[in-house]
Amino acid sequence: MHHHPGLFIPGPTNVPDAVRRAMNIPQEDMRSPDFPKLTLPLFSDLKKVFKTQTGQPFIYPSSGTGGWEAVLTNTLNPGDKVLVSTFGQFSTLWADMCRRLGFETEIVEAEWGEGVPLEIFADRLAKDKEHRIKAVLGTHNETATGVTSDVAGMRRALDASNHPALLYIDGVSSIASIDFRMDEWGVDGIVSGSQKGFMLPTGLAIICMSEKALEAHKSSTFPRCFFSFEDMMRANKDGYFPYTPATVLLRGLRASLDLLFEEGLENVFARHRHVASGVRAAVSAWGLHLVAKEAKWHSDTVSAVYTPPGVDAVAVLRRAFDRYGVSFGSGLARLNGKVFRIGHIGATNEVMLLGALAAAEMALVDCGARIELGSGVAAAQSSYGARPAVLAKAA
Ligand SMILES: *Cc1c(COP(=O)(O)O)cnc(C)c1O
Repeated sequence: MHHHPGLFIPGPTNVPDAVRRAMNIPQEDMRSPDFPKLTLPLFSDLKKVFKTQTGQPFIYPSSGTGGWEAVLTNTLNPGDKVLVSTFGQFSTLWADMCRRLGFETEIVEAEWGEGVPLEIFADRLAKDKEHRIKAVLGTHNETATGVTSDVAGMRRALDASNHPALLYIDGVSSIASIDFRMDEWGVDGIVSGSQKGFMLPTGLAIICMSEKALEAHKSSTFPRCFFSFEDMMRANKDGYFPYTPATVLLRGLRASLDLLFEEGLENVFARHRHVASGVRAAVSAWGLHLVAKEAKWHSDTVSAVYTPPGVDAVAVLRRAFDRYGVSFGSGLARLNGKVFRIGHIGATNEVMLLGALAAAEMALVDCGARIELGSGVAAAQSSYGARPAVLAKAA
């Protein structure tokens, strides 16, 4: 029998049938006169997703990590200073990339479970009278800890001291799932990837740059080739690419954008918030704790949950997979063995999550947690029942 596993990890996410069908197509000529009819609207529609009028989207055949690299290498100069904070595995990896690329990387370490430390950033920026900091980096949604940071607050921290640094945001697990406003928040570079909120397979880094960042690009001397904005822009303006684009994924992206716009972006955000609130109700009914330390940091795309003392999170993950056919996200780095993560990003709804919560409950009990079966599911049901439905139509 064909086994359809329950995928509740925060990426890759479930691909809706409409998107899968759109990708079940013959290969096509990426230099044909017709190809721009696909690609040019993709660029303009991505601007709606990022909520920008003046930003410039780029699509690379890459994972999200390539998007990080594109943003940095196209706009900074060798040895430039960047300010970044680490509070989970993904923010740590982006900071590590800055170091490995040779930037002078000022790292503010925050507790895992907290978000971007706005007061410390404001203070460092105010003290940087010579404007040596060229870019400030933030992870909008830290996927390892289920923490969403205040990007508008980062903009305020910069503006408080009139600091001209570029503001770069990792939105890989927030874009198309959690509200993001590029223009309103004055973001200069935003990074996302195809396999999370865009509900596609892995393989596209989708980023968007402000006019200010593209101005910085003109004088940036950092070595780059594959990720060169210049090469991309020259070909993209007519709807083409400097090398073979991932044509099948671009067809999938068309279908995914159609689904997002059909539901309405604001409804997509509301659905994520709604589904996440049921998961949080379940976690609290179990008497367990989220890694996110305060409600203001609760992520609507992923919940990282501490297992009770003495219950190995690795065993819980294994039990959920082996016995119930459900995948949850593992605890990354220092959270390994202590945390499992429930992904509720992309094409999900209430009933899917009720199934996932039932499986999590059983796996926890099987591994020795003293939790009453049904308690989390019932709490989620009450949470869902108490609110108006915000279900995505079956795609
Ligand atoms: C998934 C993820 C990444 C990494 O993306 P890849 O596609 O695996 O390269 C970066 N940042 C965040 C916040 C993520 O969730």
